[in-house]
Amino acid sequence: MSDNHYRVIIIGSGPAGLTAAIYAARADLKPLVLEGDQPGGQLTITTEVENFPGFAKGIMGPELMNEFREQARRFGADIRQESVTAVDFSGPLHRVTTTKATYVGDTVIIASGARALFLGLESERRLMGHGVSACATCDGFFFRGKKIAVVGGGDSAVEEATFLTKFADKVTIIHRRDALRASKIMQKRARENSKIDFLWNSIVTEVLGDAQSGVRALRIKSTADGSERELPFEGLFLAIGHSPNTEFLRGKLDMDAKGYIRTRDGTRTSVDGVFACGDVQDSIYRQAITAAGSGCMAAIDAERYLESRHA
Ligand code: NAP
Repeated sequence: MSDNHYRVIIIGSGPAGLTAAIYAARADLKPLVLEGDQPGGQLTITTEVENFPGFAKGIMGPELMNEFREQARRFGADIRQESVTAVDFSGPLHRVTTTKATYVGDTVIIASGARALFLGLESERRLMGHGVSACATCDGFFFRGKKIAVVGGGDSAVEEATFLTKFADKVTIIHRRDALRASKIMQKRARENSKIDFLWNSIVTEVLGDAQSGVRALRIKSTADGSERELPFEGLFLAIGHSPNTEFLRGKLDMDAKGYIRTRDGTRTSVDGVFACGDVQDSIYRQAITAAGSGCMAAIDAERYLESRHA
């Protein structure tokens, strides 16, 4: 095999990709892991992970991902900080091109995950990094003593709002409906937190402020009667869901309307020898533990595929 030829190429380095790497490396397949733009994946921009089994006292997301990475390295995974720009699945061997090289794989495991969504407002984009953020862990510190808003009604919104009360004086969860979709335990925690309040049936239509002094207010529209008003806030956090990182795979694999990869019989995709695991193929569970579980499945599926071809 040439230097750039691998039995398993893993795209992504979150819980799914690195679990696949641990299993593939232990099967002596010497996997190549292409880490992508965000080594460690979404958990590196999260706070404490309280629900990953085995960590009774919780663990910080970045620390957990360091453990994953070290474990994969220990068994011989070749981990590189490169991002995939294109794939070619047309031949019997699969080609994966990054910003630095083209690699050839007998199998490919796609674990490129998903990323945070934004509202799509011009003012939101303009004030990104100047009071607008989608990462409470990264930016929460800058909002000490301030009054801020979190948009969304899911677990992320409630989790981020709760975390942000460590810094902010007041955190308002702005939700477009009158009921949260977050899990009951997280809802309870937020409702019991005196620094959190809720603005129901409301959407943000404009972020007011400038790059020099940051956010000063939000224009809020009622989804009940359409009325609009301006409310003072000094920061805006978005927690409205995610989109899969599959742009570089468009037209190469079967995907659903939102771009999530369709899998069958475990982690098989529509292309022979290409497997997918984690958030890139899961719009429902999206947990670190389910991603890790499906990463394990993908490595086993790839190993069996290789065995069946060489039998
Ligand atoms: P989500 O469950 O999809 O919730 C997204 C929220 O944003 C929903 O409340 C949605 O409103 C709202 N929303 C979507 N688009 C919007 C828009 N354009 N304008 C205003 N609001 C909008 O996403 P998530 O909270 O990121 O959670 C994703 C998955 O990860 C879930 O399965 C969740 O359980 C899991 N998660 C778990 C934890 C944990 O257990 N520690 C932490 C974070 C996330 P509607 O309700 O009206 O649809």
